[in-house]
Amino acid sequence: MHSVDEDSRSFMEQERTKSGASDWPATSDSADGLTVVQVKYGDRVTRKSVVFHGFAESGEADADQLMDYSFWVALTADKVILIDTGYDIAAQDWLGEVSRTPTPEGLRLLGIDPADVNLVIATHFHYDHVGYIDHFPAATIVASRTEYEYWVAKYAENGLVGEFATPRDVTAIMRAGDEGRLRLVDGVTEVFSGITVYPVGGHCPGQLLTYVESLSGPLILASDAIHLSEQLERGWPFFAHTDLDEMVAAIAFAKELSARTGAPIIPGHDPRVRTHYPAVDGPANAIATALG
Ligand SMILES: [Zn+2]
Repeated sequence: MHSVDEDSRSFMEQERTKSGASDWPATSDSADGLTVVQVKYGDRVTRKSVVFHGFAESGEADADQLMDYSFWVALTADKVILIDTGYDIAAQDWLGEVSRTPTPEGLRLLGIDPADVNLVIATHFHYDHVGYIDHFPAATIVASRTEYEYWVAKYAENGLVGEFATPRDVTAIMRAGDEGRLRLVDGVTEVFSGITVYPVGGHCPGQLLTYVESLSGPLILASDAIHLSEQLERGWPFFAHTDLDEMVAAIAFAKELSARTGAPIIPGHDPRVRTHYPAVDGPANAIATALG
């Protein structure tokens, strides 16, 4: 039985204990797999007919659709990798998002100091995935070169008005480049031991899908290549995309990769993830879901 003290330790502290508190930070690599956690920072309620391309032709009755807003954390004994960084909903709710736990608070609850984050994978440059990206001064940022060039070109021609990317975030990523902290990938790339990114496009020109070898087996973090489980079940693309054919192909690719590897697909905005997987113990219990 857990003592109160043990339960109140942060998730990160418990991970440190598992890896040997005395030698933290440990020097082991990720050969045994990464600990992977989804961290919810907000949510919103929309309608199925609004978010699913092709829903109207399905003949199904319209209904509310809850969307979670999350980022993901992958840990080894001594490295912290973020997959996306959330955004400051309180500063602007673009589509009626409701702030639950801002990224800095979520990280604090997990016992993660932003200064200790080693790598940030920016799956695409939409506001809800790369807000706060300037909070990690030591991190290398991984992004698709296609994504980077697309948004930098828009920024350069004052073309971000009405888009889902902000000058603040795009310039923060440009600055990381100036500082030698930006790694642009052109194709399938293992960016960290056990973490491979696949540029799939569709939702954005350089949308990345992330394959992670977790402690409990491989996972596919779809981010916005696939927002919701319904897209896998019914084949509906999401309403927002830069290339519809590419988005349909990305869904098919994720399914094929999943079938080939046995890795479950984690849709990027799906509230069902929190019911399929357990919450982590400790202070982050209400917002963090243990994926692997
Ligand atoms: Zn998103």
